[in-house]
Amino acid sequence: MDLCSKHKVTVTGVTKGACAHPDVAWAMLDGGVAGLADSRVANLARLRKAGIRAEMMLLRIPMPSETKSVVDVADISLNSEISTIRSLGEAAIKKGVIHKVILMVDTGDLREGVWPDDVVRTCAEIRKVPGVTLEGIGTNLGCYGGVIPTETNLGQLVHLKTQVEEATGRRLRLVSAGTSATFNLLQEGKLPEGINHFRVGEAILLGTEAVSGRVLPGATSDCFRLVAEVVEVKTKPSLPIGEVGWDAFRTVPRFVDRGIRKRAILSIGRQDIRPEAMEPLLAGCEILGASSDHLIVDVTDCPTEVRVGDEMPFRIGYGALLQAMTSEYVEKVVL
Ligand SMILES: *Cc1c(COP(=O)(O)O)cnc(C)c1O
Repeated sequence: MDLCSKHKVTVTGVTKGACAHPDVAWAMLDGGVAGLADSRVANLARLRKAGIRAEMMLLRIPMPSETKSVVDVADISLNSEISTIRSLGEAAIKKGVIHKVILMVDTGDLREGVWPDDVVRTCAEIRKVPGVTLEGIGTNLGCYGGVIPTETNLGQLVHLKTQVEEATGRRLRLVSAGTSATFNLLQEGKLPEGINHFRVGEAILLGTEAVSGRVLPGATSDCFRLVAEVVEVKTKPSLPIGEVGWDAFRTVPRFVDRGIRKRAILSIGRQDIRPEAMEPLLAGCEILGASSDHLIVDVTDCPTEVRVGDEMPFRIGYGALLQAMTSEYVEKVVL
């Protein structure tokens, strides 16, 4: 937060990784975020229901069918389709409010946003829509295409902002270009001047920078811990017996023969987590795989004995956190 405010960047806290858990949202607000954002209307509604009155931003491009609810729960939304923006405007007028809009620009990641050469024209169109106000422009990187934010792609956004201001004769308040993947630029002092808003989830929730996964200085990386119960411990061969075809998810699994191993089965599975984004906290344990409802862990080299009924703790990455917080089968305990 200090790093952001030093560079005149305001931060909106993104709650989707924690499925908009109200306690997490309150903690973000205590930590100094300017507002809250989530990708889903239902999650923003959950925050409102918890009595939170901070400015709320909808991150996912609104569905045309949900514009009324968007205006009901969100003060501001990210957009890329003029027809949807018109529909938001109509809903806002009916409600007697002005809805704020950020026009998303695709700077190369190939997820949402208008192409750069459409920005000036689209901004001029948005200015004419009753019921909405154009707050600024934004971009999203490092998601679909995995494109890393740089001085070049973010610089392009600042350049577009100037063009829009010249063409429309009005200032744009926000240039929203940062996420947890933009902290390297910020730390290196390479964030283009003019970028003044970040939407940050992962770096707050898990303390990690999203390009390299390294823990940011001063951040806490163990706010979340997943615990699962052991339901079976048996010694079995490491190669399945019989002809191997598709597994439960229609991929053909591969195995390495490591001889006879001691394996624990835990009662959690792909419905609730992503095993690839989990790390056992108990030394000597290794995740072998998971099906929908079972996680299989090799405990042969574990110095402490693992028994049926034991609880095994894990550190979780973004993908596992997102899924565990959304799964209604995973109990959430706030300490
Ligand atoms: C999820 C999301 C963010 C936050 O990303 P983090 O990597 O968690 O910081 C920002 N903007 C948009 C549009 C998003 O969907």
